[in-house]
Amino acid sequence: MTKPILAALMFFGLPAPSYSSEVSQNVPGFTKVLLMSDFHFDPEKPRGRTKDFGWPDRAAEDAKDSFKSQDSSYFLVRSALQAAQANCSNPAFIVCGGDFLGHNLPTNDLRGKTEAKLARLFADLFPGVKVVPTLGNNDTGGIDYSEPGTTFLGQFETAWCGEVPNASFNSKRSLSFTNLVQNNGSYLADLPGLSNVTAVVFNSTLVCNPPLWAQLSARTQDLNQILGPLLASAAKRGNVWIIFHIPPGWDYHNHNKMWRANERDTFVDMVATNADKITAMFAAHTHKNEFRVVYTNNVPVGFVSQIPGVAAGHHNNPSFQIATVECATGKIRDLQTYCLTNFSDLADTKANWGNFKANWVEEGSFSNTFPQAYNLGDGYYDEKSLNELLRELKPGDTNQNAELKNAFLRWCYTGHEEASNDEATHFSNYLNTLYVIKQGDE
Ligand SMILES: [Zn+2]
Repeated sequence: MTKPILAALMFFGLPAPSYSSEVSQNVPGFTKVLLMSDFHFDPEKPRGRTKDFGWPDRAAEDAKDSFKSQDSSYFLVRSALQAAQANCSNPAFIVCGGDFLGHNLPTNDLRGKTEAKLARLFADLFPGVKVVPTLGNNDTGGIDYSEPGTTFLGQFETAWCGEVPNASFNSKRSLSFTNLVQNNGSYLADLPGLSNVTAVVFNSTLVCNPPLWAQLSARTQDLNQILGPLLASAAKRGNVWIIFHIPPGWDYHNHNKMWRANERDTFVDMVATNADKITAMFAAHTHKNEFRVVYTNNVPVGFVSQIPGVAAGHHNNPSFQIATVECATGKIRDLQTYCLTNFSDLADTKANWGNFKANWVEEGSFSNTFPQAYNLGDGYYDEKSLNELLRELKPGDTNQNAELKNAFLRWCYTGHEEASNDEATHFSNYLNTLYVIKQGDE
C-alpha cells in the first residue's frame, strides 16, 4: 500500500495498521531469547536425600515435594529446562533473572556446587548457547539478602563462565566477567544475535530497602556507583538492556517498597537520561509475570519486564518466557509465557505421583492477550504499549472491563487460578502503584 493511500484510509477513519503476532514468528530481523528466573533450586529436596549430586530418578517424590513450595527439586528444574528446550531449542542467548539457589541451603560448599549443577544442566540442554546470569538475593555465600561474598562470587563465576567439560558452551560464554568479583556481581555482557546491544547486569539486592537489607553490613551501596559506570560504557557502544533481580517499586507480598527511595529516584533519572538507548529492562523476584512502567512527569520513559519464576508457591505456576527480539535494536516484538499448568493437580492426595507427566503449555503472548494496547504501542512490548494497557484498565476506577481485568490477572499470575485476593480486591488502586515507578512516590 502506498503512503498516500494509507494516509487517506487513516484520514477517513479506517483502522490503523495492526500488528499480528504472526509477524514475530521467525521473520528475518528478529530472534528468540529465552527468559528464566527464580529456580530456587534445593538439591537436597526432599530433605535428607543424597548429597552426592547423583540425583537418582525420584520424580514422583520430587514433584510432590515441589508443589506449592518456595523451592524447586531437581525434577522441577529439569522439567522446566526440558520444556524450554522443546519450545525454543536454539535461542540467541538465555537471560537468567537470579535466585538460582533455594532458601534453606546450608552455608557451605553446597551453594557453589548447586550453582555449578545448574550451569551444567544448561550446558547439556543448550550446547553453545550463552547464558547471562543475574545474582538474586538468595545467591549468596551466606543467608538470604546478605552480600554474596568473594568466595561465592568466585564459585558463581566458575559455574557460569569457568572451564566446563562442554567446550562449545564455554567458548561462547564470552561474558565480561573479569571484574565480577570486584564489582560485587555486576558486569557487562555482549548479546549474541543482537547487533548493537550491550547488557548491563547488576546486583540490585545491594540497593534494597533497610527491612530487607537488615542483614547486610552498613557499607553504603550507591546505585550511581553500582550501575552508573557500567551503564555509561554500555550506552557509548549502542543500545542497552539492563538486567537485575529485585525491581524498584512496591511488593504487595510483604507490603514493602523493595528499593530505598533515593536509589529508586536515581534509577528513574538514569532511565530518563538514557531512554533513547535502553530498549529493555528485565527483573524478576516476585515470581509473577509483572512489569513496571517508569515515568517522568507522567511520560513513560522505560519499562521493567519481570521474568516469572520456575519455583511455585507465590500464587504462580512454574513458568518461563520466550521473547521475540528485533536484532538491530533489542526492542521486544512480543513475549510468550509457558506454564506448568497441571502442577496444582498434585494437590489431590489421590493423584498418582509416580505417573505424573508435567504439562507445559503456552499461556499466551502479549500481542494476543492485549491486542489493543499492543497495536497502540506500534507492535512492540514496551513502555508505550504497557502504558496503553494500564490506561485501558482504568486505574483508580473500580468499573473495569471485567474480561480485560481477568485476562490481566491471569497474565500476571501465569495462568494460576489462585490469583491473590489482595490484588483482585485492590486492583484499581494497584494499577497506580504496583505497575508504576516514579520519583517521590511513597
Ligand atoms: Zn528474589
